[in-house]
Amino acid sequence: MSENSMQIREGIRAVLETFPHTPRAHVQSFGCQLNFCDGEKYKGILQDLGYELTDQPEEADVILFNACAVRAHAESRVIGRLGALKPIRERNPRLVVGLCGCMAEEDEVRALLKKSYPFVKIVLGAGAMERLPESLLAVYSGEKHSEALQFAGLPDETLPTVRTSGFQASVPVMYGCNNFCTYCIVPYVRGRERSRTPEAIEREVRGLIGQGYREILLLGQNVNSYGRGLSEPIDFPALLRRLDAIPGDYFIRFMSSHPKDATPELIDTMLQSEHIEYHLHLPVQCGSNRVLSEMNRRYTVEKYLELIDYTRSIAPDFGFSSDLIVGFPTETAEDFEGTMRIVEYVKYDNLYTFIYSPRSGTKAAQMPFVSSQEEISARMRRLLARQREISEEFNGRFLGKRVRFLAEKRDPETGLLLGKTREGLVLEAPGDDADIGRLLYVTVTGVKNWALTGTRIRGDAAGNESS
Ligand code: SAM
Ligand code: SF4
Repeated sequence: MSENSMQIREGIRAVLETFPHTPRAHVQSFGCQLNFCDGEKYKGILQDLGYELTDQPEEADVILFNACAVRAHAESRVIGRLGALKPIRERNPRLVVGLCGCMAEEDEVRALLKKSYPFVKIVLGAGAMERLPESLLAVYSGEKHSEALQFAGLPDETLPTVRTSGFQASVPVMYGCNNFCTYCIVPYVRGRERSRTPEAIEREVRGLIGQGYREILLLGQNVNSYGRGLSEPIDFPALLRRLDAIPGDYFIRFMSSHPKDATPELIDTMLQSEHIEYHLHLPVQCGSNRVLSEMNRRYTVEKYLELIDYTRSIAPDFGFSSDLIVGFPTETAEDFEGTMRIVEYVKYDNLYTFIYSPRSGTKAAQMPFVSSQEEISARMRRLLARQREISEEFNGRFLGKRVRFLAEKRDPETGLLLGKTREGLVLEAPGDDADIGRLLYVTVTGVKNWALTGTRIRGDAAGNESS
């Protein structure tokens, strides 16, 4: 730690000692997995400075909203939460409120904060999380506002992290995005692609597996371009092979893969691995070549399906999931039929569906809508209804099969364990609290549209499973 950082830390600790109670901090993250992962680092920094973390904003002396800019709806929720802080602020005049994450990178948002929410004293852009201690000290020293925007580099590898789960961990492999899909704000608020070194990633993953973590989720906006720009040449399949070689009992998952960069080599690596999921999240966004071109996705439906066909020719049960945007401004009824066709053909296990949300500064935000909001909503309803049927039909391929799953929690209503299989499917099975965080074997005995159901295989030799 530099001398300057130590002085800042000492300065904050001196302020916190004047509090009549234990100083507490509350961090709330919104949006994608990467934002939640950043949120764990904000928590780590605050804990390291001497705050006790709390889930209750009413108890906090620092409240940080770590907010997402991808869709307008998420932003409105955060603005609503800021407004709702009024009684807490009135009770605690020393409360420091901050907004961080990619939402803080938007000029319009910062202008709105200055005008209507002047009590938000700390504004930190995505990638400026190291600046939190400095901002806090500035505010405690009487500054009205402390702002840091910076997304060119990589976060300090030594930043402390408070992980939400004791068995599932997210590990970013890269930050930023170079793709400029015309609807998407991410490249503007998270900057250009930069990858962590394979050594740093492997060190972190080894450490987590050593601590007993059972699921490692590798994160990046386009993991398939991992490694570009690093001095040692390496690509994503090579990184996966390196991590898969770490001994232990765990799953590796990853997201997201951009179809223009996903290759048969990626699929081969997954199928030959010991730990990597048998499932690929491959966001297609839309099933019309004309719209894909206007989205600047740089692949066609035919090219996308080539990889699906290649995979299923060697692994017919292999599952895919996707992100789909409904109601891109130029999407016609005929374009949407293309989306329905691709959903029908691929038989996704899971879809993350989004109604298009115009984001200021992106190219698509200038495009006029050709369909009404009623037509777009009706398309979404049709898509979701058909997808539910497809999931249930295609999940049937697992009936009678033995699968492995990570028990994540118990359903409070049924008491059943809920978790995800190596194939990325939600599964429920009998068990108790002691099973949470364990990798268990089950035989699939039933199928619903959102989950598999299973019975436990007891004393399974291969699985060290003895419950
Ligand atoms: N980088 C990932 C990729 O390209 O697959 C996705 C990252 S983005 C945070 C997650 C998803 O949000 C995208 O795949 C897209 O479906 C959706 N999304 C992004 N911008 C959107 C917008 N303006 N309106 C609606 N959905 C959007
Ligand atoms: Fe956004 Fe496209 Fe980058 Fe994904 S690949 S983050 S959708 S610009």
